[in-house]
Formats: sequence, structure tokens, C-alpha cells
Amino acid sequence: MKEDCIFCKIAAGEIPAATLYEDDDFRVILDLGPASRGHALILPKEHYADLSEIREETAEKVLPLAKKVSAAMTKALGCAGINLVQNNGEAAGQTVRHFHMHIIPRYVNGPKIVAWEPGSLSDDDKIQIVKAVKAEL
Ligand code: 5GP
Ligand code: ZN
Repeated sequence: MKEDCIFCKIAAGEIPAATLYEDDDFRVILDLGPASRGHALILPKEHYADLSEIREETAEKVLPLAKKVSAAMTKALGCAGINLVQNNGEAAGQTVRHFHMHIIPRYVNGPKIVAWEPGSLSDDDKIQIVKAVKAEL
């Protein structure tokens, strides 16, 4: 646990939060500033700043848990879709440096959540990106 980390404190139960689910590894809470009704956060109980730090054993449990909570939300809240969002780094919009995954229920009548504007991919850039990333994998 990291001393000055709010999500460590929430995950440990030291700061109260509306908890949808808890097990040995995770707490799932309602987001205090929800993008939509039911917006939740999966918090690992161990501190990892982001995806680059999370242990593989923990990471591999995140998606099954997101699937379970998403299914429950679909039944309980009647949402028509779900976005999973996971921000890493300030440039990506991460404001709390403790790994978390957003589960955002989406409804037919909104709220509207703005996504990115589609850009374009040139043939040159396509070749360069594939070559550069593949070399690091
Ligand atoms: P990020 O921008 O880092 O991906 O997401 C952080 C999220 O945590 C935001 O959606 C914000 O509303 C939520 N949040 C920040 N502080 C608290 C808190 O103390 N309690 C809860 N439940 N959510 C929080
Ligand atoms: Zn933490």
C-alpha cells in the first residue's frame, strides 16, 4: 500500500466508498464523478501506478471481473452497452496514479460521451509504426 494514495485507502476500506464487489484482490466501487449511471471502477488492492507496473497475475483477473460486473449491470441497470476504459499516464487522462479500470454503462438515451475524432493512417506511417512496435515486442 502506498501512503499517499487515495485508491489504496479506498481499496483497503480505510476510506468509505460505495462498493459493488470485493474479494482478496479487488474492490469495485462507484465513481464519485460518474460519466453515466452506474459508472464503476475496478481497483486492485495492491498499488500499481498503471498498466506498466501491474503484475501479470493481477492483470489477468481484471477482464474476467469486468465481464462479471458488466453482466450484472446490464441486468440490474438495463444499460444497452458498456465501455471499458483504462487510462495510463497524465497524457492519457489518468488523474489517480493507482491502476484502475472504468466500467461505464451506456444507455440508449445517453448521456452522450465524446470519443476521439477519427484521423487517417498513411501507407508510410503504417509501415513505420508496424516495424517500430514489432521490434519492441
Ligand atoms: P482517471 O482519470 O484517473 O482514469 O479516473 C479517476 C476517476 O476516479 C475519475 O472518474 C474520478 O471521478 C474518480 N475518483 C477520484 N477520486 C475519487 C474518490 O475519492 N472516490 C471515488 N469513488 N471516485 C473517485
Ligand atoms: Zn494506490
